[in-house]
Amino acid sequence: MTILVWIEQNNGAAVSSCWEVLGKANALAAEMGTSAAALVIGDDVGAIAQEALGYGAATVYTASSPVLAQYRLQPYAALVEQAVDAAGASVFLTNATLRGGTLAATIACSRGGGMAANVSDLWVGGGKLAATRAVYSGNILADITFESELAVASIRPRSFPMPEAGAGNGSVQALPVAIDEADVREKITDFRAADTSEVSLTDAKIIVSGGRGVAADPEKGFALVGELADVLGAAMGASRAAVDAGYIPYKHQVGQTGKTVKPDLYIAAGISGAIQHLAGMGNSKVIVAINTDRDAPIFGKASFGIVDDLFTVLPALTEEFKKRLG
Ligand SMILES: Cc1cc2nc3c(=O)[nH]c(=O)nc-3n(C[C@H](O)[C@H](O)[C@H](O)COP(=O)(O)OP(=O)(O)OC[C@H]3O[C@@H](n4cnc5c(N)ncnc54)[C@H](O)[C@@H]3O)c2cc1C
Repeated sequence: MTILVWIEQNNGAAVSSCWEVLGKANALAAEMGTSAAALVIGDDVGAIAQEALGYGAATVYTASSPVLAQYRLQPYAALVEQAVDAAGASVFLTNATLRGGTLAATIACSRGGGMAANVSDLWVGGGKLAATRAVYSGNILADITFESELAVASIRPRSFPMPEAGAGNGSVQALPVAIDEADVREKITDFRAADTSEVSLTDAKIIVSGGRGVAADPEKGFALVGELADVLGAAMGASRAAVDAGYIPYKHQVGQTGKTVKPDLYIAAGISGAIQHLAGMGNSKVIVAINTDRDAPIFGKASFGIVDDLFTVLPALTEEFKKRLG
């Protein structure tokens, strides 16, 4: 009856959104009278296993082998199956990254488990796990209950707070790894580094976003957004309208069909505040909106509003922050 959480790792470092999932799993386990376990798969995963203990896992299952160094669905899914059996898991949770989502769906299929993808909340109703996910472009939040023996869910990053790390008093159990490289059908032939000079949107403490309000001069508008982001050490975000218009690549999109973010400060310049955009940034601590239309819906969500032209306001803010921050 354990809740099993997969801890995604990238080149030997855990992906932080997994700790959010583990933190939530601990809270749910306490409510359901069970325990939360973690599963770490990779090559030499001892350090991540210790981290998982610190984040409160009662048991950390590890699977270590050079064959498992990089994520590949076939061997990883086989090991999740092993861990589900070893833990006697009734719930399997992943973060809703590309890898986590694929792994969750694969396990749900192979185990005949109920699957809720991209959920934004998990809770206990009538002693059973339930999930909330946005449907119909975020206009409706659907509550999902599970009838299956195994409930599977992938959780959108930043849906839950980062838990406090402690000393931990759980134990580590190594799973036997019987997979040989020759058995794995997927082969990784090459890695191409992404541009790592930019601040990652989902991890950013400050985000400056631009929307269709830059339309009069999109190149200049996003250059101004970028300059303010640089001064603040912030990541650059965008609305879907700006992405669809080709002003900025999709990786910057915030919202229902983009990234979910939860920074301390979110500055929205020329963004109206459509429900699908709010779905991705509405939980930011402080929201500052810059918009020429005082009736724009974003002002209903903003902590501070500036009713003015972003082409004037953004450079003024950049200048002022430069002076104050050096
Ligand atoms: C299935 C589905 C999924 C979607 N997913 C997403 C998503 O993930 N993310 C997302 O953002 N949207 C998403 N959308 C689109 C969403 O509904 C809106 O169309 C979009 O968010 C609007 O972007 P915008 O605010 O930049 O543009 P607009 O709504 O056109 O707003 C532009 C704003 O800029 C202001 N403005 C104009 N000129 C200036 C100026 N010079 N200075 C200051 N302000 C100015 C205007 O007053 C206006 O409020 C989705 C829609 C659907 C149907």
